[in-house]
Amino acid sequence: MIDSRGYYGEFGGAFIPEMLHPNIAELQRRYLEISQEEGFEQQFRKLLKDYVGRPSPLYYAERLSKHYGTNIYLKREDLNHTGAHKINNTIGQILLAQRLGKKRIIAETGAGQHGVATATVCALMGVECIVYMGAVDIERQAPNVSRMRMLGTEVRPATSGSQTLKDATNEAIRDWINNPEDTHYIIGSVVGPHPYPDMVARFQSVISEEMLWQLKEQTGSEDPDIIVACVGGGSNAAGSYYHYLEKDHVRLVAVEAAGLGVHSGESAATSVLGTKGVIHGSRTLLMQTDDGQIIEPYSISAGLDYPGIGPMHAHLIHTGRAEAVSITDQEALDAAFFLARTEGIIPALETAHAFAALDKIKYKADDVIVVNLSGRGDKDLGTYVKHF
Ligand SMILES: *Cc1c(COP(=O)(O)O)cnc(C)c1O
Repeated sequence: MIDSRGYYGEFGGAFIPEMLHPNIAELQRRYLEISQEEGFEQQFRKLLKDYVGRPSPLYYAERLSKHYGTNIYLKREDLNHTGAHKINNTIGQILLAQRLGKKRIIAETGAGQHGVATATVCALMGVECIVYMGAVDIERQAPNVSRMRMLGTEVRPATSGSQTLKDATNEAIRDWINNPEDTHYIIGSVVGPHPYPDMVARFQSVISEEMLWQLKEQTGSEDPDIIVACVGGGSNAAGSYYHYLEKDHVRLVAVEAAGLGVHSGESAATSVLGTKGVIHGSRTLLMQTDDGQIIEPYSISAGLDYPGIGPMHAHLIHTGRAEAVSITDQEALDAAFFLARTEGIIPALETAHAFAALDKIKYKADDVIVVNLSGRGDKDLGTYVKHF
């Protein structure tokens, strides 16, 4: 889908400070060649199987299906090691970093999920790891901070601005500019300058690669009618759509966080509220004021609380290939409780948004719908108990 300059239609590209040019140019030159080497491919596959626990099951949710009067399958990324899809990407990038001769890893994290997935693979490989995190987020996400520290990662607070994700991102970029030779920056979603969106989508594409044969085995056809995934930056959605992008008969549903309501002023529904601009190195849709200041997003789920959307999703939604659905905090909470009590699965708050979309989309009784169950809800119990 992507052109040689890293564009999906009019979205994407690499808008970076000049000082980062050598790092990005090296990645652009080498990411495909390295990730397609036989040795890389073998090591990646082996770790996904023996360390992450792939393939993740495709589970026919019988009681949920009966309730909705259709056929609903769950792609169980929540059963991966560390409890979400993010580990697929961090394994890919740590192997890439090693082949680029990088000895030091940096990352930034908001809720701490990507930080934990990065700290995990750095421990696995015995590589130094520094994770930047807003000072406010360090307070809010204490359990994940402890996990990272237990795994041997240094968590560095970002104390400027709103002391949240965007400030941590600025710190990480500053670090990379100062340490261009020995450091690789692991980005956690399909965002950032080219080649990150394409690279992360490829590492996550194992999700839809497995769906092809799992659906064939269980339904007789490789293709579902609808794939539903939540979108923060868009990596779990990209992974679950990937092998179906050119199959126009498969509907793609992208579920965004509407917070307290799309037009409440407290929302993260970028596809509705966003306009074209540049954020974190790529041209995409983002929430900004008329003079280009980023509007602080809001969602009950930290993983969807992002003012932009990956350029691939901006393109898919802009061209009508994907349908965007917005889900409020309350709708997501209701969906999480309903899934827990119908199927015995407690989803991450991010993932709960995807389930709530089942109440909003049109489907037929004989449709096959796959919901990408991006992560488990243990990390969100503190929020859930307030709503018992
Ligand atoms: C981080 C996260 C998300 C959002 O990130 P994407 O890149 O949009 O996938 C969604 N679900 C879970 C469980 C997450 O941890």
